[in-house]
Amino acid sequence: MLKKRIQKLLSLFPGDAVLITSPKNRYYFSGFTGTEASLVLTNDAYYIFTDSRYHIQAKNEAKGFTLIDTAKTSAADFIREEGYRLVGFEEDTVSVEKFRTLSQKVPDAEWEGVSPLISGIRKIKDETEVAAITRAAEIADRAFSELLPQIVPGKTEQELALTLEFTMRKMGASGLSFDTIFASGVRSAMPHGVASDKKIEYGDFVTVDFGCVFHGYCSDMTRTVVVGKANEKQKEIYDIVLSAQTAALAAIRPGAVCKDIDAIARGIITDAGYGANFGHGLGHSLGLDIHELPSFSPRCEETLAAGMLMTDEPGIYIEGFGGVRIEDLVLVTEDGCQILSHTTKELIEL
Ligand code: ZN
Ligand code: ZN
Repeated sequence: MLKKRIQKLLSLFPGDAVLITSPKNRYYFSGFTGTEASLVLTNDAYYIFTDSRYHIQAKNEAKGFTLIDTAKTSAADFIREEGYRLVGFEEDTVSVEKFRTLSQKVPDAEWEGVSPLISGIRKIKDETEVAAITRAAEIADRAFSELLPQIVPGKTEQELALTLEFTMRKMGASGLSFDTIFASGVRSAMPHGVASDKKIEYGDFVTVDFGCVFHGYCSDMTRTVVVGKANEKQKEIYDIVLSAQTAALAAIRPGAVCKDIDAIARGIITDAGYGANFGHGLGHSLGLDIHELPSFSPRCEETLAAGMLMTDEPGIYIEGFGGVRIEDLVLVTEDGCQILSHTTKELIEL
């Protein structure tokens, strides 16, 4: 499976070798989870360069790679000794300083950025990736259903967020996709309101946007609930966001243009009079990173393809009142899409 990913990259890059140094891409191409290593990928062989702390791990994880001890030869030395002339590197993560060092160590090589090629390959998720993300989404669903009865007046956002995070870890997640957004009452008007020491109050809207990592892959889901009975205004806003969210979902299929999906949801919210209260894009792709390309934004001209993984997350945010966001994780399939978030989207009144 990983060999296919490497072959794809090498088939798109006409050089002698590609140097991979960023942790996410290193994991993507080799399976190595350690924090220090470089990969050199060529048509003849794959090499992993790391120090003695990681030798056993590299042998176990980076199957099909030749292990080279960096105490003897660095990746840059190797590239120079092999006489590679055109070498790919990740121009979006290699610092100016590191690039200067590389250029000095390998003066005869021409370096060419391959980051767009890699992000293009990573856009389409393979079976292993879909399985990991599906599992991350399942854990999030289960942890959220365990959390719901605990969202009661008097508890703080922080302690509830921690409970949710702890439950996901107990269920097998290795970490969080991002800092949990847990915003109640007027704070729910902040699209990225991370958990604070505010106590939950009766009548609060509570927006929880969270995700966990499983085998390196992120999940992402948002639900907004009401503590107690929802008032008319809360119901009105919730229904508009839900209509926008489901209308966009219905249009997600291969061939659809990203900005058109955004426009469907945005149109519904705008027609209802809340266009100014929906300031962010409708969604984003994700995988090893929580934000990947393409995105459902008013400017994204990319076309959806089977195997892409997207979020659909419209919202309405009213300062001084509160806000609603509803987010599902969605896999684009051959004939439409499959929703990986299974928590109900009916308004939950706790
Ligand atoms: Zn989210
Ligand atoms: Zn998201």
